[in-house]
Amino acid sequence: MTEQVDCAVIGAGVVGLAIARELAMAGREVIVLEAADAIGTHTSSRNSEVIHAGLYYPKGSLKARFCVTGKTLLYDYCTGHGVPHSNIGKIVVAVTDDETATLKNYVQKAGDNGVGDLRWLSREELRKLEPEVECVAGFLSPSTGIIDSHALMLAYQGDAENHGAALVFKSPVESGAIGPEGIVLNVGGNEPMTIACKSVVNSAGLFAQDIARSAAMEWITATDANIKFEFVTDVAIANIRVTFAEHGRWSYVGIDALDVPAGAPTMSLGTADHASWSVALHQFGHALGLAHEYPAVAGGLRWDMAALMRVHGGAPNWWTEEQVRHRVIGVYGLDLMNGVSVDPDSIMRPPIPMVLASNSAATSWNAGLSTRDKALIASSLFYPRGTSPAASSFPKLMGSSAPEVGSNQ
Ligand SMILES: Cc1cc2nc3c(=O)[nH]c(=O)nc-3n(C[C@H](O)[C@H](O)[C@H](O)COP(=O)(O)OP(=O)(O)OC[C@H]3O[C@@H](n4cnc5c(N)ncnc54)[C@H](O)[C@@H]3O)c2cc1C
Ligand SMILES: [Zn+2]
Repeated sequence: MTEQVDCAVIGAGVVGLAIARELAMAGREVIVLEAADAIGTHTSSRNSEVIHAGLYYPKGSLKARFCVTGKTLLYDYCTGHGVPHSNIGKIVVAVTDDETATLKNYVQKAGDNGVGDLRWLSREELRKLEPEVECVAGFLSPSTGIIDSHALMLAYQGDAENHGAALVFKSPVESGAIGPEGIVLNVGGNEPMTIACKSVVNSAGLFAQDIARSAAMEWITATDANIKFEFVTDVAIANIRVTFAEHGRWSYVGIDALDVPAGAPTMSLGTADHASWSVALHQFGHALGLAHEYPAVAGGLRWDMAALMRVHGGAPNWWTEEQVRHRVIGVYGLDLMNGVSVDPDSIMRPPIPMVLASNSAATSWNAGLSTRDKALIASSLFYPRGTSPAASSFPKLMGSSAPEVGSNQ
């Protein structure tokens, strides 16, 4: 039997519990599905338990923004809920003159991120604070602290359960699909079940590689195409090299990846916490040689350069107008289409934020491969069965080899 719930949160680490708490307190019906038999048995209980000030992260990145606003909220929450913590501060030191330049960079970066309370310390002050530390320079970060992360998770769990959330342990989510009843999750474990949900939050932690692998495999298992992926860990022999460490989601198209310098990534799925299945599926479509699909837009897309600059000219991209022309208009430009009729259900149809093109209909990702995606990839244009095309005849659809860059592609 299929159970119906409003929201399912996958994973009861600190992130899943915080989200479950927020949803439950907003009046939503929430079930938290956790594979282990307790909360926080993975990364959330194996970390340094530091409340970071936000010193080192790239300017405008989500990490920087969340860290700086989050630490204040976290201190307030801990105080209000009896979570053990201490705002002990941190000193960052240079032990050689060379390292002083690095320290200056940190201070600059922290300032850019809105951490305005760093204070350079004299050698006397440093010696007084930490007599055992030998250094030539150092600064104090007063807003850094420490926290009991398990107590924090217990507090989140308490708030969530007090507002009606249910935590279910030994319940690994094994697969999911979009159906008429909503998002259907297949849950394994001792008592397997199927749950249909309106919303699913994937906070299952560091499993982004699994998502990437399953998205790549979907192009094989869901289609009739003559494709085989071999997953390797040795970067030196990989043709498609996926990174999760860069900002943005993009991929080189088809054999353009072969021109990328050895060792450099040919695909980025964003930081692990951003990797979603549809996006990974889309990027593997590019890796297989597919270009973008657009919904038919009468009169073409109308670009609003001022709006584009508002979105991309600031954090996190800081692009110039020329870069916006190249990376957004160039990537989305209708002249890059292959002249076939458009498939609006294709996974290769990227969402185009309304603000950028007031006459565009595409605002979110399609959930999976469309019927035409499946047929196209197995057709004679791409990877038909019974043939073994020479590398030179592999599809190369887009004229430009520039990767699409940006967080919404
Ligand atoms: C060495 C180290 C030090 C760190 N130090 C700090 C620090 O000082 N300060 C700081 O802020 N951060 C620190 N971090 C980062 C921080 O610990 C993580 O960002 C955070 O714990 C991530 O929480 P999470 O809930 O996303 O993941 P997790 O804690 O990994 O939780 C994911 C949960 O999902 C469950 N799960 C997985 N797959 C499924 C499935 N299919 N079905 C159901 N459940 C599933 C897992 O069992 C797990 O309970 C550190 C990280 C590391 C590795
Ligand atoms: Zn794309």
